[in-house]
Amino acid sequence: KMARKKLVAGNWKMNGNFDANEGLILGFLAEVDEQVDVSVFCPFPYLAQVGKLLEGQQVAFGSQDVSAKASGAYTGEVSVDMLNEFGVTQVLVGHSERRQYHAESSVTVAEKAVAAISGGITPIVCVGETLAEREAGRVEEVIADQLDPVVEQCAKFIENGVWNLVIAYEPVWAIGTGVTASPEQAQEVHAMIRARLNAMLGAEVAQSTRILYGGSVKPGNASEIFAKEDIDGGLIGGAALSSDDFSGIIRAAR
Ligand code: PEP
Repeated sequence: KMARKKLVAGNWKMNGNFDANEGLILGFLAEVDEQVDVSVFCPFPYLAQVGKLLEGQQVAFGSQDVSAKASGAYTGEVSVDMLNEFGVTQVLVGHSERRQYHAESSVTVAEKAVAAISGGITPIVCVGETLAEREAGRVEEVIADQLDPVVEQCAKFIENGVWNLVIAYEPVWAIGTGVTASPEQAQEVHAMIRARLNAMLGAEVAQSTRILYGGSVKPGNASEIFAKEDIDGGLIGGAALSSDDFSGIIRAAR
């Protein structure tokens, strides 16, 4: 297995408050060491608090979205420069809930990834099919439609065979549903994504790019998922809100 360091990323979604955030972070910090990369994605208003709690810690943090625009008349949006002021180093883009409820197209997602990388922030680009798309045998086509604009627009940032970009495969039918893709089902899509990167960008980029799995990952199923060849960690929703569960998933990634 190629030596890609695993990344366990917690997506808090629209959850938390000052007290809960502090308890959560202090609760899992003891589990963090150099063997596994860990990051958390909080709502925008908590970036300052989370940044302070994580000062000097080996945990990255960021927001769950970012604007593709630099500044200006975009009411409600938050720019890369603003995130940088808080010490953000990673950002989620194209989460299925953004695509679904905020009509984010794959082109917009690609523009957000470009904005993030340009500003020195690593985008975690989320892709994944719905149940209807899977049942119609369209997984590869859907993933390609979501991935290709990102690859095309972000290829210019590749230097010496690496880019600051992480992919998260999150089958929509597995997000928040308690239904996890089997390790084999997930591996199949991860291998397909890596093959596509290989075809479009070459072996060096394909082999160095981390591809996370997301969708009802829990301490009890994380080890067998993370053991698969092309699965380089997880994007965790529900289980990232419990410090015990999140700790258990970090342990499973070692
Ligand atoms: C997510 O929101 O990215 C996610 C994977 O959620 P959950 O773990 O709750 O399925």
